[in-house]
Amino acid sequence: MTLTLPNIIPILNAKTNGKPENFEIDSVSIDSRSLQNGAGTLFFAIAGPNYDAHSYISNLIENGVRNFVVTHIPENLEGKAYFIIVENTLDALQQFAAWYRGLFHFPVIGITGSNGKTIVKEWLNFLLGPDYNIIRSPKSYNSQVGVPLSVVSINENHNLGIFEAGISTVNEMVKLEPIIRPTIGLLTNIGSAHDEGFSNLGEKIKEKLKLFTHSDILICHKNKTVEAFLSQKVTTFTWSCKDESADVFIGKKPMVDKTVLKIRHNGQVFEIKIPFQDDASIENAIQCLMVLLHFGYSHETIEQRMELLYPVEMRLKVKNGINNTTLIDDSYSSDFQSLKIALDFLESQKQYKKKTLILSDIFQSGLDTDELYSKVSQLVISNKIQRVIGIGETISAYKNKFANCITFKDTEGFIDAFDTLSFGNETILIKGARTFEFERIVLLLEEKTHETVLEINLNAISHNLNFFKSKLKPATKMMVMVKAFGYGNGGFEIAKLLEHHHVDYLGVAFADEGISLKSAGIKLPIMVLNPETTSFQSIIQHELEPEIYSIKGLKSFLQIAKQRKLEQFPIHIKIDTGMHRLGFEENNMDELIAILKENKSVKVKSILSHMATSDDVSFKDFALSQITRFEKLSAKLMTGLQIHPIRHMLNTSGITNFPDAQYDMVRLGIGLYGISNDAEEQKQLENVGTLKSVISQIRTIPEGDSVGYGRRFIADKPTKIATIPIGYADGISRGWGNEKGFVTIKNKKAPILGSVCMDMLMVDISNISCKEGDRVVIFGESPTVNEIAKALGTIPYEILTGISQRVKRVFYRE
Ligand SMILES: *Cc1c(COP(=O)(O)O)cnc(C)c1O
Repeated sequence: MTLTLPNIIPILNAKTNGKPENFEIDSVSIDSRSLQNGAGTLFFAIAGPNYDAHSYISNLIENGVRNFVVTHIPENLEGKAYFIIVENTLDALQQFAAWYRGLFHFPVIGITGSNGKTIVKEWLNFLLGPDYNIIRSPKSYNSQVGVPLSVVSINENHNLGIFEAGISTVNEMVKLEPIIRPTIGLLTNIGSAHDEGFSNLGEKIKEKLKLFTHSDILICHKNKTVEAFLSQKVTTFTWSCKDESADVFIGKKPMVDKTVLKIRHNGQVFEIKIPFQDDASIENAIQCLMVLLHFGYSHETIEQRMELLYPVEMRLKVKNGINNTTLIDDSYSSDFQSLKIALDFLESQKQYKKKTLILSDIFQSGLDTDELYSKVSQLVISNKIQRVIGIGETISAYKNKFANCITFKDTEGFIDAFDTLSFGNETILIKGARTFEFERIVLLLEEKTHETVLEINLNAISHNLNFFKSKLKPATKMMVMVKAFGYGNGGFEIAKLLEHHHVDYLGVAFADEGISLKSAGIKLPIMVLNPETTSFQSIIQHELEPEIYSIKGLKSFLQIAKQRKLEQFPIHIKIDTGMHRLGFEENNMDELIAILKENKSVKVKSILSHMATSDDVSFKDFALSQITRFEKLSAKLMTGLQIHPIRHMLNTSGITNFPDAQYDMVRLGIGLYGISNDAEEQKQLENVGTLKSVISQIRTIPEGDSVGYGRRFIADKPTKIATIPIGYADGISRGWGNEKGFVTIKNKKAPILGSVCMDMLMVDISNISCKEGDRVVIFGESPTVNEIAKALGTIPYEILTGISQRVKRVFYRE
């Protein structure tokens, strides 16, 4: 993209401050944290309910960005950069993208539907790649911002576009349609995703179909409801496995490890094989087949290419590597757009200063290779990558574009040289096209773990954080509790993500939790809830902020503070308003005020209290009495000391149930991890942790045989059982055994038979077709942590924090 400001401004219908320089724009950004922002960036300052990119403009100016699309010029920045002023920056971004799209006239496939969009897009990219220069949405960039950002990456050399559009409520597709403007429409299916955003199924279908308003053709499953809502102007090209009147009629024949599809189209019949057996993959493959038929591919080509379809890994996974390294595994794709995303992710997750990029040849950039690798080299410089390991013939030829680079002709060459390359204390991004089989590199670098892992979905954490942020008044600050290793989910990684999201504070229970976060590079202020007197020295040394809850604690902290000649060291005053756990009471107030008044070495940064019944509306009166008491005692302290500290009281369920008591800050805990005790709210949160294992062994036992210790299960018929390597030492309660609990295998429930052992448990798989090595879900979508807690008569907090540290945590982003 080479655009200049003078030709952009008229499109945005904007006011400006001064005359634009004839300045070239080479990229568009909305992410103030990206290291890729620079002089050629046009930055759109998007404002959400709780995040406003306008606040980061001065930083961006310091980092060399010169051109901004804004709703207003932030204070004191007039004249410091070029500002394009619009009414709504998101609208402006969309308008700009729609205009930009209009500059190109090649076929564009627009995909929407409830499931399968990203897989179908990636497969089409693979199937059509040999014949076209394709521009496609990177990852699953299908939202109101993701779509425009995808489209502005089109360049002159592309000759086919594949973009996906995702919507969650009405009136969203109207905005995406002119940006994608698909000539070929593809509707994957209509499932129940985002049902809450629509009043009925008809409304949802109508909204999705708006994507195809100006398409020449719509490819979809033959479906009367869809047809009823479709505009007469759009021609359909339909398929079905049941309805012979569809344009393409398909018969399915399952085989071992694959499915044969018998296809009847235009009076001809032919067969193809696809390497999948599950319904979802078959349906996605058929959608792709339809596109190939529409493009007029020969039956032989279709057969050859479809047989090579592969499972798509869309996630960026964060893994622990050998010698204190963190791996970011993106080993299934290599195109320029997704490289940019992966580098931003690397920056948000990096644990170590040192960064290495292992990169294969890049395909389908639409650029000539010299220009491409120059651009990659710029990215490497702006993201401060110290070392590049290039793998492939092309990248080897451009080795001299990088300052510190070793190259290998192929993956084999890298593996042979592995022992001579040193890896340690660094973050390594592994990014390669599928053909390079970089999973072999990941295997070498990955710390060996056993098969049980707790997978943490970082997107879900971001979603849940935003959900609770949206309940806050604009000025309310957010402290997030990451005590007990982030409620069992991981300390550093989650803290890093929260820092990325600009939360205001972190909270931990003990000093050592805070110390390990600070030592790993977390810069956010951290409050320690339960500082022991013996840890005061290290609290000060690591700039943690103690909660002070007693006169005795205060005096001993002050003593140390004076010795160290501290001034205004931040402390937090905890008031007991009825929980009766920690805190000052009413009769301490005068003494507390007296001590603090004549003191300069500490500063009351905040006053807090904790509610005992915020989760139970039947105790509403008690909760309100706590709030009243907090109001009174905190006011007394503030008047007595003439101070205006941050006041805070609400935990997760408090945020939900007592919106009027937000004061200046709230303390979010369990909600971040996707758990609510309110059924309605639970539906709006996303699942964060999935505890997974695999089947170690399968056997069938005859009637009368028993399973496990104490023969607590006796088979009353021949029973097929599977052994799973997870037990009570990993945090699975024995109470969950003996058919009270279950695990999920291939989306089916497998009841736990007999007692849970220390390191293993056995389940009934009589009705499940599965094999040794198959994946098992212990909790996640089903069973949920809430379900398990209910059945065991406890609370989800205990289940989450009880997962032992020997279970590896793996973090990923969709
Ligand atoms: C743990 C904790 C919280 C967070 O509670 P959730 O119910 O998990 O939201 C808030 N404040 C204090 C003092 C806590 O100890």
